[in-house]
Amino acid sequence: MEASLSLKGANDVSVSLYRKYRPQVFDDVAGQGIVVDVLRTALQRKRVGHAYLFSGPRGCGKTSVARLLAKALNCTDLRDGYEPCCQCDNCRAITSGESLDVVEIDGASNNGVEEIRELKSHVALSPFASQWKIYIIDEVHMLSIAAFNALLKTLEEPPSFVLFILATTEPQKVPVTIRSRCQHIPFRRIELEDIARTLGTIAAKENIPWEDEALREIARQSDGALRDAISMMEQTLALGGGELTMTAVDRLFGGGTSADLEEWIGALKKGSPRPLLMMEEMFGRGASPQRVVEGLFLLFRNLLAVRRWGKPVLDALALSEGEKVFFTEESPRWREEELSAMMLFTSKLIPQVRLGLRSDVLSGLMAAKDSELTLSERPSAAHEGTAAAA
Ligand SMILES: [Zn+2]
Repeated sequence: MEASLSLKGANDVSVSLYRKYRPQVFDDVAGQGIVVDVLRTALQRKRVGHAYLFSGPRGCGKTSVARLLAKALNCTDLRDGYEPCCQCDNCRAITSGESLDVVEIDGASNNGVEEIRELKSHVALSPFASQWKIYIIDEVHMLSIAAFNALLKTLEEPPSFVLFILATTEPQKVPVTIRSRCQHIPFRRIELEDIARTLGTIAAKENIPWEDEALREIARQSDGALRDAISMMEQTLALGGGELTMTAVDRLFGGGTSADLEEWIGALKKGSPRPLLMMEEMFGRGASPQRVVEGLFLLFRNLLAVRRWGKPVLDALALSEGEKVFFTEESPRWREEELSAMMLFTSKLIPQVRLGLRSDVLSGLMAAKDSELTLSERPSAAHEGTAAAA
């Protein structure tokens, strides 16, 4: 579907779309249903604790939800016992980042014990204008041991009006003594479908024309991080002259989109130089080796699943119509052992490209693997030939 909406130039997107469309109420939070359920129940039963640990991959909404919780606690006109009204003085102050009772600390840049000591004396003071004083410490795993120890003292006996929300991408690096004082709420990476839908909602509100395939490709490349997806969407918009097109997405990712990778797989096992040339061309246009290898791994995994289990898997995977056609047409061309071998091959390459394997070496290895596949086809073809002749 292509939206027939009025064209709007990329220059009109002056405020970052991510900031503009940060969820303002719990019902707008994308892809974190369980987290929202837990917090909604706690708010409705007035059983919010004094310390939470929000963990999960980057860009999945931890800080946004922390601010929402702060807003819900200090809102003077709460809806349904959990949704902030977004109109009262407290809600407005928190949204604009001006509330004196909501303190955000970046653990990565305030990892010294001095900052935490300062925080300790601050914690004891009553809130200025609201019921709760909320401290949001982002990237909390970056704090030094001394800072953790100072924080622990505060967490052991928090004043009744204080809530700590610690956010981290690496909960295992937070000392057990700290973790055990917190209610741990794990966030998930956001599903491709949820990201694509959120991008579509934003595009519609901004009157930006879009192609569904383009939004899905951005969602795929964002790897579950909505923040990254929205930022990629803004870049696509700039490249696409105000439209979210597949052509612009292709330019942004320098090739290596799933359409490119599908075409590449379709060229394998034919004894042709195309796989090598296509790979060289993709890297020449600036495709990231890591994204290419990870993308191929997922395609081979899905191909294997479709080859083995057929339609039920096809229906269960979150695929676009184009992808369904690809898997349906491509899977009969492969034997299960070949697909397993390709999955294993690409999975072994993932750590290597992360460590900086050169793209020309990568395309060489890929071409060698293709030759191997092509050669392994021949004896069996010859064998079938003799069998048929006999
Ligand atoms: Zn309010």
